[in-house]
Amino acid sequence: MKKPVRDRKPPVNDAAGAATAAPFVPPTASLRVLSAAAHTCRGCDLYKTATQVVFGAGPRHARVVFIGEQPGDQEDRQGEPFVGPAGALFDKALADAGIPRKTAYVTNAVKHFKWEPRGKRRIHKKPRVSEVKACRPWLDAELQAIQPRIIVCLGATAAQAVFGSQFKLMQQRGKVLPTALGAQGLATIHPSAVLRATDAESRRNAYEMLVADLKIVAGLL
Ligand code: SF4
Repeated sequence: MKKPVRDRKPPVNDAAGAATAAPFVPPTASLRVLSAAAHTCRGCDLYKTATQVVFGAGPRHARVVFIGEQPGDQEDRQGEPFVGPAGALFDKALADAGIPRKTAYVTNAVKHFKWEPRGKRRIHKKPRVSEVKACRPWLDAELQAIQPRIIVCLGATAAQAVFGSQFKLMQQRGKVLPTALGAQGLATIHPSAVLRATDAESRRNAYEMLVADLKIVAGLL
């Protein structure tokens, strides 16, 4: 496992004083070049406590892009998106919906793991709106490079990043909506919401909700 970045350079701010990744994003449609450049990003403070950047992964010409919130503990350690417990559940839900994972590009609204210590564990901490905005240039670059037919937001953070801060996930999930990029968009719950369900019935209901929404996506592909 790579060691966390230890330098303490201040994050970069835009003309309005807001943190932004923009100066680190090269003008290219190459996902390989973008991914390599993301390792140098100091667009906000999150790189300081994460192990490494976790860029998106998947085919350059994917028809569908899935956007989560941020890498989790396992993703941070491995440097790959959606490889932890939520990733395993996501794989199963995709399979049940009839979407081959290898045909999809998966990424996150925020590319570094935000966490807080609890004993020896690192517990997920929700990124601030300012951190989602700071990281947005990377997501925009990925979407511009791929030009997907459908953008699927997993969870409220991704949905509000794509559809705006007024988006209400549980009221508007499963609806096909336009996006600024011209692609169709749809939001559903994040796979981790299924894992967080407190009893077997809630977990089953949440999983069925996720798969039902993914089947709508499968029908659009
Ligand atoms: S979270 Fe995004 S903007 Fe912040 S340092 Fe990481 S890649 Fe850059």
